[in-house]
Amino acid sequence: MKKGIVYLIGAGPGDPGLITVRGLQCVQNADVVVYDYLANPVLVDEAPADVERIFVGKRKGRHHRPQEEINRLLVDKAKEGKTVARLKGGDPYVFGRGGEEAQHLRRAGVAFEVVPGVTAGFAAAAYAGIPLTHRDYTTSLGLVTGHEDPAKKMSTLDWEKLSTGVGTMVFYMGMANLPLIAGKLVEHGRSPQTPVAVIRWATTPRQQTLVATLETVVAEVEKSGIRPPAVILVGDVIELRRDLRWFDNRPLFGRRVMVTRTAEQARPFVDLLAARGAEALCCPTIATMPPESWAELDRAIEALDGTDTLVLTSANAVDAFFDRLTALGKDVRTLAGIEVVAVGPKTALSIRRRGIAPDLVPEDYRAEGVVKLLIDRGVEGKKVLYPKANLARDLIPSQLTAAGATVADPVAYRTVAPEGGQERILELLEAGGIDAVTFTSSSTVENFVAMAGEELHRLLDGVAVVSIGPLTTATAERLGLTVAVQPVRYTLEAMVDAMVEYFENREPRPVPSPESRGTDC
Ligand code: SAH
Repeated sequence: MKKGIVYLIGAGPGDPGLITVRGLQCVQNADVVVYDYLANPVLVDEAPADVERIFVGKRKGRHHRPQEEINRLLVDKAKEGKTVARLKGGDPYVFGRGGEEAQHLRRAGVAFEVVPGVTAGFAAAAYAGIPLTHRDYTTSLGLVTGHEDPAKKMSTLDWEKLSTGVGTMVFYMGMANLPLIAGKLVEHGRSPQTPVAVIRWATTPRQQTLVATLETVVAEVEKSGIRPPAVILVGDVIELRRDLRWFDNRPLFGRRVMVTRTAEQARPFVDLLAARGAEALCCPTIATMPPESWAELDRAIEALDGTDTLVLTSANAVDAFFDRLTALGKDVRTLAGIEVVAVGPKTALSIRRRGIAPDLVPEDYRAEGVVKLLIDRGVEGKKVLYPKANLARDLIPSQLTAAGATVADPVAYRTVAPEGGQERILELLEAGGIDAVTFTSSSTVENFVAMAGEELHRLLDGVAVVSIGPLTTATAERLGLTVAVQPVRYTLEAMVDAMVEYFENREPRPVPSPESRGTDC
């Protein structure tokens, strides 16, 4: 039998990009993933689909597994010969009881390794614009638990030495004891004017940061309603935030944006939104499926020899066409001598990834642009292949045929409503706090409107409708939506720029409850 092993992995503070390369590899190679409340679930999804996932909770006041049970679980799974990824928030050896888990594994004779992580205090400081040490401010740094065993009432801390002996202090789990912490530090000699920063859900798009002093922090926290999980930073370095802030002042920070395109296509858009600080919520209104029958496309592929021009009008069409070409035992050499047209730069990039440099891209990145380009160059007597979606408009075949071409337009893929898509959209809109819903094609609008149903207008009250271009806008308006934002150029980059401009002087909508924890796709 394979020998089991447990990896105690620091998942980092929340932003999934902050796990280490080694930590990620361990998750990807695991047989079982055991994770708790502070580890971002996105990281759990990095494990192969058939891997067992065990949530071991841990949220104050809620049901969770006692530590002994977690220890036992880790031992049992390893003894079954499994590779166990034990994902813990932040760093496993900083106030995470990772030490206890390791001791237990050692006693049980189970092999383990530790993968350090970015601890919440370090990450929160970095993302709040606060260097924990700075030569002009402090030479020492202390990490302190603000929630010792409640029975001990934080009595074992040497407040005298801590208050005056340590420059910058970071309190974990300290929110419930904040009045005590602030009071004790002042009582033992720290100036009441000392700056304090309370940072909640650090490194996620929902990060909240409050700056006060030891004297005012309790009242300020009460006023703001800021709750755990949060770290409390104490020290003069906090003044540097005024100058060094970079994360929570990005233009779309605090905005929650629904992305309605397919799950496969959402990534580049989500990345653009996240780079400006927005929280992207993936709610695909479309999924792609193979056609009912391949016969028509197969016939067209067999006839490629006599084809002059191949027109591809979306990344989906590119994927469907080339995948089918491969499935039929052919490769890109079959396309030698055929003129390849891409509707726009994104489609062109997809074609390039398949090893073909597109010959033509129109100036106007729409079917209209393709038609104009080809007619201007002359299509009389030409054989054109246009692998399309089941619901594609008839524009390309009808206009090119009218201009004297012979057009084959086999269905290469179908678009359908994704499973569970409607429930998710309704749930998010009902919960409120959505700033914008984005549409990148007419079909996303049509499906979204159908999914929202009769409640459409109530659900979209206060939500900015963002459209990529005139065709999508026309569809939205035909279906009764008012488009608030449409960029001049029909690209995702321009769309995000237009959103930045639109939201510049508008307040973000209030955070719904229960809160999400950031970009979820
Ligand atoms: N091992 C973890 C700490 C676990 S103790 C680490 O190294 O980060 C739990 C405490 O960590 C919380 O009460 C809170 O003080 C802090 N914490 C964890 N994630 C946080 C986050 N994203 N933002 C702010 N504080 C966080």
